[in-house]
Amino acid sequence: MAACTTAPGAQQSALLGRGGATQPLIVAPHRRMRITVCTRPFRAAGPRLEAQRFGETTVIHNYGHGGSGWSLAWGSAHEATKLVMEERPSRVAVVGAGAIGLTTATYLAKLGIPTTIYAKEFPAETRSARATGTWSPDSRIALKGETGPDFPAMWERLARKSFATHQYYVGMTGHPVEFSYRYYLSDSAEPTPQSHSGAGPHFADYDDRLDDMTPPAEDLPRSAHSFPVVRARRRISMTFNVSEYSRRLLADYLAFGGRIERADFGSPDDVLALDETTIVNCTGYGARQLWGDDSLIPVRGQIGWLAPQPNALYGAYYNGVGVLSRRDGVILQVHGDTEAWGYQIDNEAPDREEFDRAIATIAPLFENWRG
Ligand SMILES: Cc1cc2nc3c(=O)[nH]c(=O)nc-3n(C[C@H](O)[C@H](O)[C@H](O)COP(=O)(O)OP(=O)(O)OC[C@H]3O[C@@H](n4cnc5c(N)ncnc54)[C@H](O)[C@@H]3O)c2cc1C
Repeated sequence: MAACTTAPGAQQSALLGRGGATQPLIVAPHRRMRITVCTRPFRAAGPRLEAQRFGETTVIHNYGHGGSGWSLAWGSAHEATKLVMEERPSRVAVVGAGAIGLTTATYLAKLGIPTTIYAKEFPAETRSARATGTWSPDSRIALKGETGPDFPAMWERLARKSFATHQYYVGMTGHPVEFSYRYYLSDSAEPTPQSHSGAGPHFADYDDRLDDMTPPAEDLPRSAHSFPVVRARRRISMTFNVSEYSRRLLADYLAFGGRIERADFGSPDDVLALDETTIVNCTGYGARQLWGDDSLIPVRGQIGWLAPQPNALYGAYYNGVGVLSRRDGVILQVHGDTEAWGYQIDNEAPDREEFDRAIATIAPLFENWRG
C-alpha cells in the first residue's frame, strides 16, 4: 500500500528529478526573436459543441474554446466525434487546422473514417500556433452565470479526457508534450488571489474539480530557490511544444489516411457546397465572420518570443507577467491583474511597449543567482 500512496511532493521529485529552476532564464531585449498576437475565441456560454442541420447536410460545431483550446482539444474532439458517428457518415469534412481541427480530424482518421481537412491556414499559420502552450483548461472558458447547468460537468469530462490523451505524446522524440515546473512568485508572504471584483467580466473558474488529477502546489523554503522574492510556490504542469505537437498531429493524421486541402470559405453556402454531408466546423475565432456568430468575443493575447533555452525548461509568474521556457522559445506574456486583460480587443498588431514591460518585470527575477 505504501508504494501506492506516495505523497504528491515525492511524485513531483520522482517525475522531474532535481530539475526545475536550477539555471536562470536569460530575459533580455537582445534575445528577442519576434512578437506574435492572437485573438482567443471566447464565448460567454462556453464552447459551441452541437449539431446543426442544413437540409441533407449536418454541421457539427466545435469552436469557441477561449484560452483553453489546446488544453481541451482532445476532449472536444471526442465529443464532436460522438455527434459525427450519429450521422453514420461515409466520409467527413473538418473545416479548420488549428488545435481543435487537427485533433478532431486525427480522432476521426484513427477510427478509419475517410476525412479531409479544409482550411485557409495550416498549423504554423493558425492562431493556435501563437498560444502559450500550457495546461490551462479553464482559462477564459466561459462567464460565471452564463453557461447551461450541465456545462461544468461537461467541461470536467473534456478536461479529463484531454489530460489523459495529451500524455500519449509525452516522451516522444521532439517532446510534443512534456511536464515542467511552474513557479508562482510574489513579494508578499500572503497568497495574492486574482481579483474577481469590479465591473469587468467574471470568468468561470472550475479548476478545483480537477484537484485530484495533479499534485498540489508546494511552498518552497528560501533556501530551495534563487528567486529574489518573499514567497515562491511551485507545481508541475503540462507544456505543449506547439510547433512539434502540431507537426506530430498532422503526421499522425496523414499516416491514418487523412487528406488536406487548402480552402478559404467566404460564407456558410461555400462550406455547404462541399461533397461531404457531415462537416465538423472547427474555425475558432474565424466562426465569427464565417458563420456570423456574434457571441464570439475576442480576447487579445500577445507573446514575446526570446531565443530558446533548452537547458532551462520551466515557467514563472510574477506581478501579472508570465514567462515559459519551451523547446521552441522562451515566451513572455503580460497577463494583467485579471483574466479580463485583452477582453473585447481584436487588434492583432504587436505592441512593443507591452513586450518591454514584460521584460522589465521578469528580468530582475534572474539577476544575482547563486551558482
Ligand atoms: C496569447 C494566447 C495564449 C494562449 N495560450 C493557451 C495555452 O497556453 N493553453 C491553451 O490550452 N490554450 C491557449 N490559448 C487558446 C488557444 O490558442 C485557442 O483556444 C485555440 O488556438 C483555438 O483553436 P482553434 O482550432 O479553435 O482555432 P484556430 O487556431 O484559430 O484555427 C482555426 C482554423 O480554421 C480555419 N478557418 C477559419 N476561418 C476559415 C474560413 N473562412 N475558411 C477556411 N478556413 C478557415 C483557420 O485557417 C484555421 O485553420 C491561447 C490563446 C492566446 C491568444
